[in-house]
Amino acid sequence: MNDRKSSSSSATSVETLLTHLGRAPDDQFGFVNTPVYRGSTVLFKTLADLDSQQQRYLYGRAGNPTTESVETVVTALEGAYRTKLVPSGLAAINIALMSCLKAGDDVLISDSAYEPGRIFADNFLARMGVTARYYDPRIGGGIADLMQPNTRAVLAESPGSLTFEVQDLPAIAEAAHTNGARLIVDNSWATPLFHKPLSLGADLVVHAATKMFVGHSDAMVGTISATEEAWPDVERIRALLGYFTSGDDAFLVARGLRTLALRMEEHRRRALDMAAWLETQPGVTQVLHPALPSHPDHALFQRDFTGSGSLFSVLLEPAPRTAVAAFVDGLELFGMGYSWGGYESLCLPVKFGKSRTVRPWTAEGNLLRIHVGFEGLDDLKQDLSAGIERYRAAR
Ligand SMILES: *Cc1c(COP(=O)(O)O)cnc(C)c1O
Repeated sequence: MNDRKSSSSSATSVETLLTHLGRAPDDQFGFVNTPVYRGSTVLFKTLADLDSQQQRYLYGRAGNPTTESVETVVTALEGAYRTKLVPSGLAAINIALMSCLKAGDDVLISDSAYEPGRIFADNFLARMGVTARYYDPRIGGGIADLMQPNTRAVLAESPGSLTFEVQDLPAIAEAAHTNGARLIVDNSWATPLFHKPLSLGADLVVHAATKMFVGHSDAMVGTISATEEAWPDVERIRALLGYFTSGDDAFLVARGLRTLALRMEEHRRRALDMAAWLETQPGVTQVLHPALPSHPDHALFQRDFTGSGSLFSVLLEPAPRTAVAAFVDGLELFGMGYSWGGYESLCLPVKFGKSRTVRPWTAEGNLLRIHVGFEGLDDLKQDLSAGIERYRAAR
């Protein structure tokens, strides 16, 4: 579903793809955007049409022009065979896992992975007869030693969205493939603009489109993209489970994607500026941002990424929880809440539950996760400076 200009030119820069792909003005009376299709029933004209099942759309649950227009863009960005929109990032993780696993199989999950995906594996997959084990996100090719004959999937998130370890995806992919397992990568942080897991050997890529793709904190959507080899299992499981994304939500993803390149570049620049500045502030023990030279995985980051995301963490010197409250309760610009990826800045105290089992988080002090939005950078720094002062005064 290209618009006229892009289909007749050979332009392939990511900015051009984001601007032109997935639109068909000629099909929409010249209107620029693919509109919101809302629909369940799709009509067949004749019994022959019904019997042959050859028309483009058969029933609303399988998708419509609005959802497909978005899928086209994500497929091109990730260099995938196909993409499907699903109702949330968590649904994308769960469908991706189920597409690789059956009773009796085993899955290896990064110890730094998004916690609800881990809870899904420990509870739902366990009930279905799948074992889930966890690995050190810095294990690299050493993951070969953890492979069992029944290991059929590896779930990586690089970098982890709380602690920002970068994973050696080519090494992990090789070990997985040698063992007959597929590698699933959560690419929500970098987006395909800065990191292309399929080109590094992954088989499936998932996104919390809720975050950077939507970009405005106003919709929940996930995407699953896959290689041609892995795709049929993804679509089969999605269809069996009846996952569907509405045209309304898909439209918000499409709208977000049109400005993704601009937003990512600006998020990158601002987050990196803020992270480097925080490294110089009193009371700051460590800043966990892979694009900083001080980050332990910086070399791996430089090898496999072309840019960095909006999100990083900062470790403050030890202080009681009342000091954390003094910091965050008094913030004027940074909001406190889950998710990230919108235009507005967020600051979230990180609390590790039972979620890390291989590499428990042992650093002294309090960890804050920061999403840098589009407020004035100096205003944001002033807000954090005042927070640090309150924190240190309450030690
Ligand atoms: C938020 C998030 C998810 C889950 O996405 P939802 O749309 O909130 O379900 C998955 N992975 C990462 C890295 C996330 O930050």
